[in-house]
Amino acid sequence: MIAYMDHKDLTNEIIDVTRAQEIADGVHRVMDGIAQAESGAGRSAGSVKLLAATKTRDIGEILAAIDAGVRMIGENRPQEIAVKTPGLAKLLAERGFDLGVVGAGAAGAAGAASDSRAAERESIPFHLIGQLQANKIGKVLPVVNTIESVDSIELAEKIARRATMRGITVGVLLEVNESGEESKSGCAPSHAIDLAKRIGAMGGLELQGLMTIGAHVDDERVIRAGFAHLRRTRDQILASGAEGTANCRELSMGMTHDMDLAIEEGSTIVRVGTAIFGERAFI
Ligand SMILES: *Cc1c(COP(=O)(O)O)cnc(C)c1O
Repeated sequence: MIAYMDHKDLTNEIIDVTRAQEIADGVHRVMDGIAQAESGAGRSAGSVKLLAATKTRDIGEILAAIDAGVRMIGENRPQEIAVKTPGLAKLLAERGFDLGVVGAGAAGAAGAASDSRAAERESIPFHLIGQLQANKIGKVLPVVNTIESVDSIELAEKIARRATMRGITVGVLLEVNESGEESKSGCAPSHAIDLAKRIGAMGGLELQGLMTIGAHVDDERVIRAGFAHLRRTRDQILASGAEGTANCRELSMGMTHDMDLAIEEGSTIVRVGTAIFGERAFI
């Protein structure tokens, strides 16, 4: 159990109107910011997807973000995924959405009852964006479409084995520690291309791209250099033509404070929490 989960009921489904409006305003501000950054960088509208980073937020808060237009969510901790998924999937099914892997949680039950409608429902992709310990793989595989935090061959092999056993294919992004900061996970940038080729060749996984967390510094040039390097790495992986790398297109980079820079450097997924939901009361 994580300490803050004792202080906040993450399964709470009801939030007040003021809080819901605050979240809707946040979503709209972020979406406007993405649109501006896209056009400022000469990129086409809609080329950057918004992933709402929902750690420490309860079901009611997440639904408010989805009601305001969010269409992709990401969680950091398997425990939070396990606690929130059943209630969240049920309420999303009522709104006509599937959450994550079809068949997960309550949406699966609802889907089984009306298969013809299941095909029409829009799916909300669910990503794991935080570190994954091997013993938690089984907790997240039934739910998440994509694991963004794969940073070693060992972890990739363990996920691949579990996915193959289940007869499924899981999306993965290779996380790269572009800033070299010790506090951050991610593989060394110099290993990224080799790791990507080896992960691409594994059964049970689909290598969908690369992920990084921007450098924790004030100097924009340093942050930008990391993003630009991730993009060049992605381009080299694609150009290699290696087995299983043809779909390695996503660049998950950019958060509340460095989203604009990331979009200028080619981000395809920005992961935003604070600018949507406000400051986190818990880490
Ligand atoms: C929390 C988190 C985010 C979002 O961060 P904000 O600064 O709140 O926008 C993005 N990516 C990861 C991996 C995170 O843990």
